[in-house]
Parts: sequence; C-alpha cells; structure tokens
Amino acid sequence: MKLYSTLDRKVVDIQTIKDNEISIYSCGPTVYYRMHLGNIRAYINWDVMHRAFKYLGYNVNRVMNFTDVGHMSHDEDFGEDKMDNEAAKEGITAIDVANKYINTVLEDFKALNILTPSGDVISRDLDYKDVEKFGWMRATNMIPEIIELVKKMEANGYTYETDKALYFDVTKVPDYTIFTGQKLEDKKVGDREDVVVDPNKKNPADFVLWMKLVGKYANHDMHWSSPWGEGFPGWHIECSAMGNKAFGEHFDIHTGGIDHIPVHHPNERAQNIGAFGQPVVKYWVHNEWVVTKDDAKLAKSEGNADTLPEAIAQGFDALDIRYLFASVNYHTKLQFSTEALKGAQNARLSLNKKVKELGDKSGKVIPRYIGRFKNALENNLNMSEVLSILNEMLKSKEDKEDILATVLEFDRVLGLNLNNIKDYSVVIADEQIEKYARERDTARAEKRYDDADKFRKLIEEAGFKVFDTPEGTKYAKY
Ligand SMILES: [Zn+2]
Repeated sequence: MKLYSTLDRKVVDIQTIKDNEISIYSCGPTVYYRMHLGNIRAYINWDVMHRAFKYLGYNVNRVMNFTDVGHMSHDEDFGEDKMDNEAAKEGITAIDVANKYINTVLEDFKALNILTPSGDVISRDLDYKDVEKFGWMRATNMIPEIIELVKKMEANGYTYETDKALYFDVTKVPDYTIFTGQKLEDKKVGDREDVVVDPNKKNPADFVLWMKLVGKYANHDMHWSSPWGEGFPGWHIECSAMGNKAFGEHFDIHTGGIDHIPVHHPNERAQNIGAFGQPVVKYWVHNEWVVTKDDAKLAKSEGNADTLPEAIAQGFDALDIRYLFASVNYHTKLQFSTEALKGAQNARLSLNKKVKELGDKSGKVIPRYIGRFKNALENNLNMSEVLSILNEMLKSKEDKEDILATVLEFDRVLGLNLNNIKDYSVVIADEQIEKYARERDTARAEKRYDDADKFRKLIEEAGFKVFDTPEGTKYAKY
C-alpha cells in the first residue's frame, strides 16, 4: 500500500511494524455539536482506508477517540471550554452534552455506512454507553492513563508547573516543528484578545498537559484530582494516552485533518517523545479540507456547512454524500456544492440501476478486474480509478452473474450497499411521494391536520423520513 506521509512529504510504501497487520489511530470528533459535512469527509476517507486494508488482507487494529473534555475554542490553551459552553447553553451537564453528541455521531456514521473502528457494521441500538466495545475511546474514561503518561514526561524532564497549569516544554524536543518546517520563534500562540495567557509560561508554543481549577476554570464542570492538583487534562494528551493504551510504544498510522498539522499533531508527537524517548507513530496521514466554490473551508464557525440531516432534508441520501466523499482521494481538496452533490446522487443512482439490471444471481469474480481494483487501492487509494474500472466492467461483455460478483467485491471497500439496492428507481417512487408531500403541505395550510397526518404516514410507509422545512415537506431515505 502506498499513502501520502505528511512527514516524508510524499507518497511512500507503507511498511507495517508487523507483517500483514496494521495499527491505525484516527483523531475523532470533539462532541459538543452535530458534525457537519466538512467534518464528515475525514471519517468517510478513513473508513475507505480501513476497508481497503482489510480487503487487501491486513489484520486491521484501529481505534478512534471521542474528545469530551479539555478542547478549548480556537484550539488554544486558555480559550472558552467547548463542552462547558454548550452545557450552559443547553442547560445540561458537560457529560450529557458529550453523550448526546456521541449518539448523533453514531446516527450519522450508521447512515453513511461507516464501520466502527473495530470494523463492525453499526447496529441500530448502539449508543454512547457501548462505544468502547467497538474501538472508540473517550477522554473522560482515560484520566488514570493520562496522569500516568504525564508523570512519565515529568520524570523525563519535559514539563514545568505554574500556578495555572502543568506545561510541556517544547524546546526540549529539538525537531518539534518537523511538521511545518517553521522556526519555533515564528510560532505565535495566544495573541487573541479573549485569551488569557499565563505570564509564567516559558515559550509561546508550550502547551497545557494538566489545567488547574483556577481563574476562568475555577468552576469547570468536569475535574479530577492529580499530582498537580484538582483539574482536567489538556486537549493533546488524550490522543497520546489512547494511542499508547491501544498499541503500546509503536504504531503504524495516525490519521487526522490537515488542520492538526500545525499544533495538535506536533504536540502529540512531542508528548510521545517526552514519555517514550521516540516518536511512536510511524506514518502521519492527513485529509484535506472540504471547501466552497470560493475556496472557503466548510466549518461550523463559518456557518456554511450543512449537517447530514439538513442535507437529507434537501432530498439527498446519506450514501450520496458517501459517494461524493469516497470518490475523491483524501489528500485532495474537495470542492463542495449542491450541484456537486447532485452529480454524485445521479452517478450513484445510475450505478444502482446498472447493478440492479445484472439480476440477483452472483457468479464468480473476474480476476482481471479484481487485480486492477487492488492496484488502484494500493496506489494511494486511487478512488476515481476504482470507479472508472467499475464503470468499464459494467459496460463489458462479461457474464452478468460474474460482473455482479465482482461489483460486490468492489463494494466491500466502497460501502455503497450495492448488495441491497433500494433506491435505483427513485424517479418513479418520487413522483408519488412528491404528490403526497405537496398534498400534506396543502392540508397543513388549510389546517386539515388529520389529512396532513395521513399523507405523512403514506410517505413514511414508503420508507422515507419526513422533515418540515421552510420550503414545506421534504422527505428522504434515512
Ligand atoms: Zn487527536
């Protein structure tokens, strides 16, 4: 397998630590809001990677974190606490915020056909209580491991304490800026007005390992006792602690968004060196951003990104989004627009139709196409090549049953549910459903609520979910 390694700055041959085995740590979501399409891209790309390694015969060991404590706004040490802010807004506790949004992640992942980190299909009834059985790790359940790891760094001389926090001293790691090649003195941190910087912090790039319950965090919702006083862990330490817990002192691949290249990942790498004397992670692999037509990043703070339910309310299927994101290499910037998503929807429905026309009987796989499929995967997950091989095969004169068998092999990586196609004839289904939707709108406008309910039921019975939007009734498979 060849992948783009950020530290090598090129596509490299992945040499795993153990033969036929791969260990992957994926930076996961901070759970204080429902993720949007810009966030979702990473999880689809890494799901494709996970499935590809599995398909190519590797034994995949993978974990992903849920950040539920310590992540401040703007990724800064002394920013606003994201979990606490949301808790105050919703009038619930921070841990309730975390549980609530872990559940929305699971709901979205299930709809997008994203496997659990352990490689299982997400079941309908999986919720936050059981995520740790499936390869997810939660920062709040990792406090003893975090404290042990920080103690190691402290014993090795990488930390210092002030009255506000325990810090990691980045000048102790000579190649700290290896990710960006930036000079340490050019790194500006904490120069925003709303950020209170600790006057006793030695270097601007030093970062918090353990935050004390003082100053603006005196009333922090979640806190634990530690050798450095009552408090809570910094954001970066959880990933080092979890990676170590899952894989020990060496693992193969660490994934994350390119936004982690300047701060989060250099800090994680520095912590690993501080605790274990060596970098721990063999390959860092990053996904590019999803951008608008004007090249603006899709982001919660920009307010330019829909959530999955919002996209579904516009008439898209979660698998249209999967198709769009899976068809582009993780290392390529992805330009998102409603037209692009419509294009993906059309392409997916036409693929569904062609596959449906092959019939229900599956024959033998066609080795020639499987060989080319594997080559495309091994070539830095060349997914546009995978789709063009697939389309070429569908047009070929090969036996229909054999084509179907081969399509289903492709789908083990694509994850488009091609073995269980429901919406290939969406045009016909839509006409009737569209009629019900408009009749429901009319009934509601005329306050005939019993009739409106009747039409809602008819739409739901056809397997759609109904959404109320400012433009009236929308519906989608969900
Ligand atoms: Zn992380």
